[in-house]
Amino acid sequence: MYSSMPDWLSRQVQTQPHKQALIADDVSWTYHQLLHHSLSVKTMLVKAGVVPQDRVAVYCRKASSFVLAVHALMQSSAILVPLNRKLPLSELAFQIQDAQPSAILVDAEQKEQAEQLMEAAGLQLPVLLIENGLNEEEHVARQSFLLTDKQAIIYTSGTTGLPKGAVLTYRSQWFSAVSSALHFGLQKNDIWLMPMPLFHVGGLASILRAVIYGSTLWAQDRFVAADVLVAMENENVTLLSLVPTMLQAVLQEAAGRPIVHHLRALLVGGSGAPPALLQKALEAGLPVCQSFGMSEANSTVTVTRDEQSLLLPGCAGQPLSCVQVAIFDEQGEQLPPNASGEIRLAGPTMSEGYWNRPEATDQAFQDGFFCTGDLGWIDEEGRLFVLDRRSDLILVGGENVYPAEIERVLRGCEKIVDVGVIGISDEKYGQVPAAFIVVNGPWTEAEFYEYAKPRLATYQCPKVVRFVDELPRNASGKLLRRKLREQWQMSEVR
Ligand code: ATP
Ligand code: MG
Repeated sequence: MYSSMPDWLSRQVQTQPHKQALIADDVSWTYHQLLHHSLSVKTMLVKAGVVPQDRVAVYCRKASSFVLAVHALMQSSAILVPLNRKLPLSELAFQIQDAQPSAILVDAEQKEQAEQLMEAAGLQLPVLLIENGLNEEEHVARQSFLLTDKQAIIYTSGTTGLPKGAVLTYRSQWFSAVSSALHFGLQKNDIWLMPMPLFHVGGLASILRAVIYGSTLWAQDRFVAADVLVAMENENVTLLSLVPTMLQAVLQEAAGRPIVHHLRALLVGGSGAPPALLQKALEAGLPVCQSFGMSEANSTVTVTRDEQSLLLPGCAGQPLSCVQVAIFDEQGEQLPPNASGEIRLAGPTMSEGYWNRPEATDQAFQDGFFCTGDLGWIDEEGRLFVLDRRSDLILVGGENVYPAEIERVLRGCEKIVDVGVIGISDEKYGQVPAAFIVVNGPWTEAEFYEYAKPRLATYQCPKVVRFVDELPRNASGKLLRRKLREQWQMSEVR
């Protein structure tokens, strides 16, 4: 009955209008300015015929435009559909056909691509330039919203197949922000530095956290390791989110020099970081923690709370307060500690289902839990260990082999720059692992096995090794094992 809440942005403007809301490459806005600009853009949206509950795609290059678009859409009670700029137009065309937005909001830098996208998708949506909206009169601010309202449809990374649109509500945003604050704490002048793309769930969550907390978001247009190091020197930059490859680049950029920072936490997420990298980050004095999360859970689910857990292979830490994490077997029975099975999640941060995909929704959302498709186990202390995605599991003569485990071991070799492991069919064992590796300098197969054999169980040791120039990764840098399987099949046919 009482599921309405006062509008977050208006509330910040009432209580602290001059507080800095956003630092970006080209602007620095107070909460008052952010609301003012959002309401001008709202006028443009209303004039273009956007009504509450319409979907609007956002395709912006600049972080400031993206943040503004998110707030303008919330002020208009429209549903945000962020588009990943790094995706090829053919893949984006699929998303836009799936979401059926009533308009696309772009900035000047992205306008041409937006027009090409319309052509690729065979759609003729109004392409609205956000800069034009800034010249409009202010529309009225909204007073409140319903927690059950849809706030965004965020597409998954498409690592295992076609991306799916996870529907996120205001309730999900609220609980995600609150559970993060309960873990990391809040300080009056906190600045959360976000060099990660804002169109992924982690980026979007950072925008919502800032307005819910009334804190400052520092969003960078693109990741540049040197810029991150400079920003970290600001005494109020207390939280920072990075994916593992970014952390590696930051450490490389620092080149062993002491890193000046005032961080309470540096969250590494998106995928599991190799323990050697985490160790290096600790040695550089960074308060690094590993997180596990996903689009359907509105970003972070678990986070490591101490250095010892951080360095345990596959450890993703303990759940945030609003999330329940449990392990289930294939029959749908919940498993006790230390037994491995599918990781399932429940709680108010969960998506309410996939947009336009009733079957995928029924399959993934079962008996009050979201079935992640990831395998793992929970120890006696409630720490989650992520093994791998179920679809990548290799069954070697009845033995479960997790490609991620093999990759972790091989990545420990100085010669190996990048590695991807898949299962290939084998007459004797059903399946065996095959490794695709990128090496720095000359290396032979014999030398590979000299390294691999003593470090891996016999059934884990790749039966085939292929030297490649690079590995297929998606726009978020995640390894696409399905592409490796395709590559392998093609080479087999030839
Ligand atoms: P799709 O669902 O379209 O295949 P995706 O699962 O990669 O793509 P995201 O929601 O962006 O899309 O990513 C969430 C997934 O990333 C998790 O389900 C998990 O497989 C992986 N992941 C995230 N954090 C970690 C971690 N700490 N360790 C291992 N895997 C992780
Ligand atoms: Mg997924």
